[in-house]
Amino acid sequence: MPDTATIAQLIAEGVRRLQGAGVDTPRLDAEILLADALGVSRAYLFAHPEEEVDEATEREWRCRLERRHRREPLAYILGRAEFYGLEFTVTPEVLVPRPETEVLVETVIAAEPATVADIGTGSGCIAVAVAVNLPQTQVWATDISESALRIALENARRHGVAQCVHFLQGDLLQPLAGMRFDVVASNPPYVAESERLMLQPEVRDWEPAHALLTGDDPLQFHRQLAAESHFHLREGGWLMLEVGMGQAEAVAGLLEQAGYRQVRILNDLAGIGRVVVGRYGQR
Ligand code: SAM
Ligand code: GLN
Repeated sequence: MPDTATIAQLIAEGVRRLQGAGVDTPRLDAEILLADALGVSRAYLFAHPEEEVDEATEREWRCRLERRHRREPLAYILGRAEFYGLEFTVTPEVLVPRPETEVLVETVIAAEPATVADIGTGSGCIAVAVAVNLPQTQVWATDISESALRIALENARRHGVAQCVHFLQGDLLQPLAGMRFDVVASNPPYVAESERLMLQPEVRDWEPAHALLTGDDPLQFHRQLAAESHFHLREGGWLMLEVGMGQAEAVAGLLEQAGYRQVRILNDLAGIGRVVVGRYGQR
């Protein structure tokens, strides 16, 4: 009889292995990976520490543990991530949705727009979360990456909003020529190439570079969106941009220079200026 390990033994081993790799949350990750391999909840693991794990499941878990040991993001290993209370399919073609981006989604929803453009939609998390929460709203979502748009469409179908989210491929606002919206929202890339080495290995080595990096000018995309969005906003419409830590004041300045009114900075839960908004048009 080959030895089978118990739930508690595998978790202890997983914690050691992930700790050794410098993972931030080794216990949580080892538990999530084992719960997922067994098809049970984490609560089940705590209630059944002595239960033996069958060999095939153990092999599957070990394989995933090794991926996490190489610092692959948990979301890519599981193939899913939670955002704004919804589950999204994620693959290495798209950025893993971040909790701080929920500030942008909340701000869009609070404006109750009839039409929204989401520029650089990635997994579609912003467009889909807005459409689910505002059933009367039509959303147009763009991305330069065709493979990202495939994942975004899958997520729109998964949440039953494929009829109200329209996906278009192309550079920033260019696929929306001639169209105007109540809100133009974007979480564009905003990490300068010079900051690349400071990123966590999960981000630096696994997430798509074209979703994060901007070359020498970290505000390249914000600059272009501030300069061009007025062609795509209705009178009184809002431009809403996510920014990186320390970028909010500079982006607020870009919006003011471009003639936006009521320019404001909204903080995330960590108190970091995370979203900059401005209103287009005469008063
Ligand atoms: N909206 C998603 C989110 O919040 O999780 C993804 C944001 S990610 C920071 C930026 C996205 O912009 C990526 O999906 C990337 O493919 C896309 N992108 C990069 N350059 C672009 C461009 N020139 N035009 C349109 N989309 C672009
Ligand atoms: N918040 C991401 C990170 O630094 C960056 C996302 C972006 O460039 N828009 O992990």
